[in-house]
Amino acid sequence: MAIWNLGSINADMVYAVPHLPRPGETLAATELSHFLGGKGANMSVAAARAGATVHHIGAVGPDGRWTVGRLADYGVDTEHVAQVTVPTGHAIIAVEETGENLIVLFPGANQEIAVEQLEQALAGAKAGDLLVMQNETNAQVEAAQMGRERGLKVCYAAAPFDAEAVSALLPHLDFLILNEVEAEQLQQATGLAPSELPVAQVIVTLGSKGVRYFDSDTGESQEFPAYKVKAVDTTGAGDTFTGYVLAGMDQGMSMPQAIDLAMRAAAIMVTRHGTADVIPLLDDVRQARL
Ligand code: ATP
Repeated sequence: MAIWNLGSINADMVYAVPHLPRPGETLAATELSHFLGGKGANMSVAAARAGATVHHIGAVGPDGRWTVGRLADYGVDTEHVAQVTVPTGHAIIAVEETGENLIVLFPGANQEIAVEQLEQALAGAKAGDLLVMQNETNAQVEAAQMGRERGLKVCYAAAPFDAEAVSALLPHLDFLILNEVEAEQLQQATGLAPSELPVAQVIVTLGSKGVRYFDSDTGESQEFPAYKVKAVDTTGAGDTFTGYVLAGMDQGMSMPQAIDLAMRAAAIMVTRHGTADVIPLLDDVRQARL
């Protein structure tokens, strides 16, 4: 089986600054680092590190070839990442010594995914494969519909949250992954609690409190307490969780088994600084004493 990820790819630029610039201020940075980013790319890397076959569907500009190379180095298939003329999606991140940051996000090529590109990619998918999306690209509903028609299981991580985007997708989903805040926002927008949503399986991640899981086929809900670790940087915890949970399901695990594996991976992730580059490998996740 395989995972198909319609996902964002960002070229993140992190500038170390003495303090965050004020309006009108010009400020020299002391350091610049380039990172592969985007929730989509992070999820692909996490699923690949968890041992899954991952096909990324996305788009970058002429300036983003290195991001595609980085994804491929992590073991992700990039055949269906298109090169378009608009610049690669990127975040300009200024970080001061206290860790406080300021971010400008440019979606760029992530919004340029063509329906024909999706059709071409998903023509290679098999019934039972997984299709995952997050809210950082265009063409989500088209992809979900196409996925369903081809017998794929469709999963959505509703981040960054947008009530309209998730509402439009609800009829096409098999799995939905929300964090606690997103679950509340969705309840406010739809009047439906996670257990009442018209989606077979709903996972709500609760940060250091763990995970709540609802299965509408059985009517059951289950709580999973998080592994206790000393968190230093929670960036990418959600993306690591999603990539690992999908990889677990793709490898035939039950949902509780896949959730446990993903919670272990995410717990290790929060003990590390960084994003895609530090997502843990399956062996480390299995061997870690948590
Ligand atoms: P982010 O946006 O920071 O990537 P998120 O808000 O999407 O994350 P969270 O609910 O914060 O998602 O975290 C996802 C999972 O990661 C949690 O369900 C939990 O298993 C694990 N996790 C997050 N924070 C911690 C922590 N401090 N200790 C242990 N596990 C954690």
